[in-house]
Parts: sequence; C-alpha cells; structure tokens
Amino acid sequence: SDHQLEYPIRPEDYDWSKHYPAYFPTKPGATPAQVEFADIGCGYGGLLTSLSPLFPTTLMVGMEIRVKVEDYVRKRIDALRTQHANLPHTAPSSYQNISVMRMNAMKFSPNFFTKGQLSKMFFLFPDPHFKKRKHKARIVTSTLLAEYAYMLRVGGILYTVTDVRDLHLWMVKHLDEHPLFVRMTDAELEGDLCVPCVMGETEEGKKVERNKGDKFLACYRRIDVDHNM
Ligand code: SAM
Repeated sequence: SDHQLEYPIRPEDYDWSKHYPAYFPTKPGATPAQVEFADIGCGYGGLLTSLSPLFPTTLMVGMEIRVKVEDYVRKRIDALRTQHANLPHTAPSSYQNISVMRMNAMKFSPNFFTKGQLSKMFFLFPDPHFKKRKHKARIVTSTLLAEYAYMLRVGGILYTVTDVRDLHLWMVKHLDEHPLFVRMTDAELEGDLCVPCVMGETEEGKKVERNKGDKFLACYRRIDVDHNM
C-alpha cells in the first residue's frame, strides 16, 4: 500500500531524469523538460503508447496504483524504446517521452506537479465504485477537482471516458458544478488528436468495444476565474 511508496515533499524535489533519460541532463541555459500530460489510472499503457508518436516532444506520465500493472507498463515502454532506438531513420527519441510511476494518484499528485504544469489530464475508464457508500472513492470528486484545477494550466483539458452511464453522469455533474472547468463542445473537440486515442486506444476501451458497450466522453477546459478563456 501507500507507505511503501516514496513521495517528494515538493515537486521540485522529484528526480524525473530516471523516467526520461534522453531529456536529461538539460543543456546549460535550457529550461528542464517537464511532464505535461498525466494519465491517471493508466492501466496497461495503451494511451501513452498511442499518444507518444503523436506528441513526440511532450513528456507524458501514467500513474498506476497496482504494482504488477505498473511493472508491465514499464517493461512495455522499455521494449518500445529499445526497438525504436535500433531502427534506422527513426528519431532516437521515440518512446523516450513516456513513462509510468506507481502511485496513489488520488492522494499525492500535487506532490509531483507544480501549479499549472499540466496541459492535459486523462481519466479513462476509471473504477466505477458502484455502491453509494463507495462514491467518495471515485476519482472525480469536488475535493479532487480542486487539485486537478491547480495542476492544470488555464486552457488545459481534462478528458473523461467511461462505459458506465451512472459514473459518466457523476463526473459531468461534478465538473459542471466546478467554477474552473467548462465542458467542451463536439465542435471544439473536432480535430483533437487525443479524442480517438482516449476512445479507442486503451486496453479497457478495446474491451468495451469487443463487448459492444457504450462509451461516454466528456472533456472540460480549465478556465480562469475571471477571464472565461
Ligand atoms: N485507463 C486504463 C484503460 O482505460 O485501460 C485503465 C482503466 S482500469 C478500469 C482503472 C485503473 O485505475 C486500474 O488499473 C487501477 O489500478 C487504477 N487506479 C485505481 N485507483 C487509482 C489510484 N488512486 N491511483 C492510481 N491508479 C489507480
């Protein structure tokens, strides 16, 4: 459980170089690369591996609480890095921009990210916690949304997808109620490269597809309190 994990007291204390060795050390005078996308409860890593070539210079991290799953994703990324490093005519940086960490994202995310650091956060097929008394364990709650709003920059996007209608309505309700998030329209999302990936590239999304289940998408833009950007 949590106590075996090490959490930095402040984001500045965390060493990201072990996650993205190709990006460190930073050249003198350059700003250190920072993680911009966070996949919360990343599962087996399908989102990260599909987004990596689409945003080849953006650092992304998956957060996963299960030891074995995190281990699987780490090995998957290592293998991709090795394969692509050996291919001619491919950027040596292929798959160098994705990584995974084992952590309880509901408790410790703000220890890892500074204010406004993230431009995208993904909540894909989160655990539904069906029973009413378990609802407070859901990954989207008013309290946690305040943290997500803190880490997301103004203009950043929070993506949610689920096959569970009740959970979808729950997430929409809480996000709608929050003053710092505004739901994006279909027109605004047209051409967003992430949308097809969040809908179809995760392992859970594929499973839902095989079972011909529904998928509910809701994406929210982080807005400024005064300026409705
Ligand atoms: N997003 C992936 C997908 O679409 O394939 C995985 C979906 S799976 C149903 C939910 C994942 O969230 C599980 O792998 C679970 O271990 C992880 N998870 C649940 N609570 C978490 C927490 N507090 N912090 C990090 N990961 C968590």
